[in-house]
Amino acid sequence: MLGQMMTQPLLISSLINHAENYHGQTEIYSVETDNTVTETNWSEVAKNARNLASALTKLGLEPQARIGTLAWNNRRHLEIYFATSGAGFVCHTVNPRLFPEQLTYIINHAQDRVLFFDATFIPLVAALQENLTEVQHFVLMGPRNEDAVAQIPGVQFYDDLIETGDANFQWPSFDENTASSLCYTSGTTGNPKGVLYSHRSTVLHSFGANTRDVIGFSALDVVLPVVPMFHVNAWGSPYACAMSGSRMVLPGPDLHGEALVNLIDTYRVTLAMGVPTIWQGLLTFAEQSGSKLDSLERTVIGGAACPPSMIETFRETYGVDTVHAWGMSEMSPLGTANQPLAKHRDLPLKEQYKLRESQGRPCYGVELKIVDDNGDDLPHDGETQGDLLVRGYWVLDSYFQMQDQELLQDGWFATGDVATVDPDGYMTIRDRSKDIIKSGGEWISSVELENIAVAHPSLATAAVVGVPHPKWDERPLLVAVKAEGEEPTEEEVLAFYDGKIAKWQVPDKVVFVDALPLNATGKVLKRSLRADFKDALVG
Ligand code: AMP
Repeated sequence: MLGQMMTQPLLISSLINHAENYHGQTEIYSVETDNTVTETNWSEVAKNARNLASALTKLGLEPQARIGTLAWNNRRHLEIYFATSGAGFVCHTVNPRLFPEQLTYIINHAQDRVLFFDATFIPLVAALQENLTEVQHFVLMGPRNEDAVAQIPGVQFYDDLIETGDANFQWPSFDENTASSLCYTSGTTGNPKGVLYSHRSTVLHSFGANTRDVIGFSALDVVLPVVPMFHVNAWGSPYACAMSGSRMVLPGPDLHGEALVNLIDTYRVTLAMGVPTIWQGLLTFAEQSGSKLDSLERTVIGGAACPPSMIETFRETYGVDTVHAWGMSEMSPLGTANQPLAKHRDLPLKEQYKLRESQGRPCYGVELKIVDDNGDDLPHDGETQGDLLVRGYWVLDSYFQMQDQELLQDGWFATGDVATVDPDGYMTIRDRSKDIIKSGGEWISSVELENIAVAHPSLATAAVVGVPHPKWDERPLLVAVKAEGEEPTEEEVLAFYDGKIAKWQVPDKVVFVDALPLNATGKVLKRSLRADFKDALVG
């Protein structure tokens, strides 16, 4: 016997409909590419999305045609998110920080038919245009622009395109498993691979994100997604914020500390999300400027390990609660979030704080386990480390156009991370499996060594990599950037490890550099550090 409840498909259009119907006047502030700020609201976003959906439909594109974007976090990008998926097309967000060859590969591989781009990327699109053989419509996200006309033959303009649409456009209904958006992972080996999300996975992910022990966006929040909309859909925040009717501040191109602090203070941001490298800049500027970030209640930090010292600074100096979260493109991205359990309430504060440092426990909808090299399950005892496997409602099954490759292990996806899991499910990332340092027979977590280094007051940032060693195969090397005006010595930095970890884990050497190499999503390029310093401990 089947249940006798309505079976409405879980579609992204339902999110924007909800925001329009019940949160229409809720403000959205958008920093444009020229740094001016536009104020809009969910009602306007929904109206423009319907117009755009209608205009795109009139172009006669095939169902599920991919629509590319090269864009910052701004209101037009938000409208494109809902217009494309809602109309049955696939929103393909492309990371503009990739190399031109990678961009060409990705846009051609996805067979994007339309490419929307911000004015910042006029020269980039002009340079790529003749290689983008699948794109039929190049659309600048703005009004008519003579620079674009001069450089990009046939260019169209967003503000004109939506005029050709019909605001009475009705969102179509279709199977909830239909593809909705596409994001390529910045793979460190081989070509980038596409993760193709569905309407169902996206709506379920939004429910998951909106549970109170995960992020729990609220209609009372002013949300600042610093994480780019071209990186795993800004962690799904546009969808989850439409579901909860949150106000949003879309920060545009300038993600430096000064710009972010100003946005937080001007628009009274309560909840901000991003990777640790971004918050480093923000904290530095907040300290220099004397801002107290007094509206800010919570930060969600993930994408790379959040150093405990950062969580502490947010808490002690600014009274901000940090939710340390872990996930990946293949998981839409939410996997775990660090929130306490009831039994932790009576612990001494220090212990409670310590418990908030790990990557947290799985949200409903995601299961995880650790396995050894044979694929056998390892205990969740908080000590044993192994390869981290996941499965769940918003975890990928196969990469885009690679359905023939068996990816899963008995229905589980191997994340490539090495982790421990404790009996309550709190997971700690020890490393990416390729970044863990194998010294003799022992493993050393580069993340743990980095967390200690960045707490040193004279260091701005640091990374640890394993480099070849004649006796131990590999030993840790600390690559550090000095804080402005500071001149720490190698001895001082290494002495900072005393008493914090076992002696044999302390890095063998410190190399000071001006800046760390970052990849297109702001993560440290360890491969490049390993290559640069491969001879640091030999000869
Ligand atoms: P991406 O798909 O580009 O978002 O990268 C996902 C990878 O980032 C994960 O597999 C982890 O290695 C890393 N990552 C994400 N969040 C965290 C975190 N909170 N701590 C440590 N590593 C993280």
